Amino acid sequence: MGHYERYIHTRWPSAVITIHSDWDAQNTGGHVNESQHYTGLACDFDVSNVPLVEAWLALERIPEVRGIGIYPSWRTPGLHADVRTDLERARWFRDSNSQYQNVDASFVKLATR
Ligand SMILES: [Zn+2]
Repeated sequence: MGHYERYIHTRWPSAVITIHSDWDAQNTGGHVNESQHYTGLACDFDVSNVPLVEAWLALERIPEVRGIGIYPSWRTPGLHADVRTDLERARWFRDSNSQYQNVDASFVKLATR
């Protein structure tokens, strides 16, 4: 997260990054669709004082981050990032009905309204 933190803090000095969970060996976090947590390659976090869409786009700048999930409906909206090496690159968001959706125009509308 080092490069990400630097990039965020340069642009939003008041940003606070809060890690929610990283390695989840016991499968206690309800990480449906997020198996990378079980191998220690993922973390969930939020960035307060930064719009969610900006926090997402900052994450897109890091080539090593190959899986990104966006969670606008968390109590504090946030992101999942993982460095999967054995799976295709992936992008998803979870809607207000807890359904996983593709990151497409409807997501961008939701995130920028
Ligand atoms: Zn996650």
